[in-house]
Amino acid sequence: MSVESRKIRLVMDLRNAGVTDTKVLAAIERVPREQFVAESFQDQAYANQALPISCGQTISQPLVVGLMTQALEISDRQKVLEVGTGSGYQAAILSKLARRVYTVERHRDLLAEAEKRFTGLGLHNITTMVGDGYKGWPAQAPFERILVTAAARIVPPDLVAQLSDEGGVMVLPVGDVAGLHQEVIRVKKNGKQFKSERLFPVRFVPLVQGVPEVRS
Ligand code: SAH
Repeated sequence: MSVESRKIRLVMDLRNAGVTDTKVLAAIERVPREQFVAESFQDQAYANQALPISCGQTISQPLVVGLMTQALEISDRQKVLEVGTGSGYQAAILSKLARRVYTVERHRDLLAEAEKRFTGLGLHNITTMVGDGYKGWPAQAPFERILVTAAARIVPPDLVAQLSDEGGVMVLPVGDVAGLHQEVIRVKKNGKQFKSERLFPVRFVPLVQGVPEVRS
């Protein structure tokens, strides 16, 4: 089966599994996931599963990317913060839906690979930073949308503070580090009021505080 037909089948599967937002499905169709996975996993680029990437991390399962992106309710005038760039795949999806994407990754090597992919694909509305995304990106706050793609034990307070007061939405996995009891939570902020909802169970790598030391 060709890459194109595998991709169409994946998009149909995602729609059947609850990703019904046509803009999100179109973004998934437009981003070549094969460019975000290693050579050895090319045949699985359009399988609905998470795959290993460098630094012991993973590129998320397409269904999880679809459902979390949909839950974020993005419009093309908004500024989005992503925590956990990883391969860059989720940031590329967001770049098709938002005005600008700010993405933070703690592993310098992963970020360098993701940046090359963004340039190669002509995605010019993504700004990257090596850093501890648990603390967000204060210089660029507030953000209308925040998406976290690594699991925290609690909702990180700095991220809540950096979410826009006027209808800001944050989607993030919360739960234990082992990944046994995690679920995606959506926080909506209006003025100083918050509303949080539990959406669905997931299994993410942990949100680790701090940045690894650079080896010389
Ligand atoms: N969104 C990614 C999935 C990445 S997996 C993709 O589409 O491929 C989670 C990523 O979060 C990993 O790359 C991990 O290094 C990163 N991460 C974990 N804790 C972090 C932190 N505190 N700050 C920034 N990135 C973090």
